[in-house]
Amino acid sequence: MKSNFTKLIICFFISISTYAQTHNSYYQSVVDNVSATNILTDLTSFENFGVKEVGTSALSNTENWITSRYTSLGYTDIELQPFTYAAGTSNNIIITKTGTVYPDTYIIIDAHYDTINGPGTNDNGSGTVLLLEIARLLTNINTEYSIKIIHFSGEEDGLIGSNYYVNNTVNPENLDIHLVFNLDQVGGVNGATNNTITCEEDRSNPPANNSESSVITNILANCIELYSNLNTQISYAYASDYVPFENNGEIITGLYETNETTHAHTPTDLLINMDPAYLTEVTKGALGALLEFAVSTNALSTNENIQDPISIYPNPSNNGVLNLNFLNATSTNRSLKIYDVLGKEIYTKSNLQVSETIPLKGLQKGMYIVVLKTDNKSITKKWIIN
Ligand SMILES: [Zn+2]
Repeated sequence: MKSNFTKLIICFFISISTYAQTHNSYYQSVVDNVSATNILTDLTSFENFGVKEVGTSALSNTENWITSRYTSLGYTDIELQPFTYAAGTSNNIIITKTGTVYPDTYIIIDAHYDTINGPGTNDNGSGTVLLLEIARLLTNINTEYSIKIIHFSGEEDGLIGSNYYVNNTVNPENLDIHLVFNLDQVGGVNGATNNTITCEEDRSNPPANNSESSVITNILANCIELYSNLNTQISYAYASDYVPFENNGEIITGLYETNETTHAHTPTDLLINMDPAYLTEVTKGALGALLEFAVSTNALSTNENIQDPISIYPNPSNNGVLNLNFLNATSTNRSLKIYDVLGKEIYTKSNLQVSETIPLKGLQKGMYIVVLKTDNKSITKKWIIN
């Protein structure tokens, strides 16, 4: 969907993050199972279906291939959402994985599977295959938030499927969306040094959701650097399936290749022109970020108390009292900042003791972002008041 012309006017910013996540060895153990072989095999299968424009049997065959993959992995909540326009009828494919703590709040991770003028192995076989590999590794993993994995169609004709989903599911059902994480064209360029991925944040109207998108995109960039060998850049989101969500006031983020292919939307958008090793690294980073966003509960039992050099508890809190513990007693310049979901700073305190109890009574129920710092460490945590 994107064009080189648009890319020319983008001003890049090197990612300088305020919100550093800590490396989680459990998440790493999941990420370590990302398979370069699976990714290559799936890219080949995707390419072999041909030109996947809406109304073609190539697209229907691809839809069946994607759907059957989820069935064989054991996913049971698989919905085909049909929509019709001039080009024909097509389906969004929506897979729901229910969360353990917030079953009615959703992380949406999405990629379009329709293509235009060519097989679209990069645009957007890359995002499609990334979702399939992540879905394979999430099969037996619990997360606190529910996850919807969505393969949109009709993207190349003008974001038709994602618009349809926002208008016919998100709004009528008043879906509680924690964030939307979009993958589009993340396959890299054959022969180039593909060592950087672009993380995309919301800088457009309406502005109310922009600062939270910035927070989430910084978390995404940090996780990519923690769980892959890639560097990150932050730019703005445009021309892909997150846009209808963005316009609807949802919190969005996304990934897009930094070295941009010249083959998108042509018959030569083929595996030989992209870099599957790069896609493998993007998949690792995206999976690490998704585990962080959705809070994998398999890790929680050890996360707060043993592995983290800085912990907060209880989390969730019933009364708004925040307890802090810095495990390293020799740490210096310990400080705390708390942000609300719009990224607004609501509390700050420096010169903290190794252990502190901070009464924050009067805060509304909901999610907050707690940033704890010492001279040589910065940790960001989600903190819930319920
Ligand atoms: Zn695309």
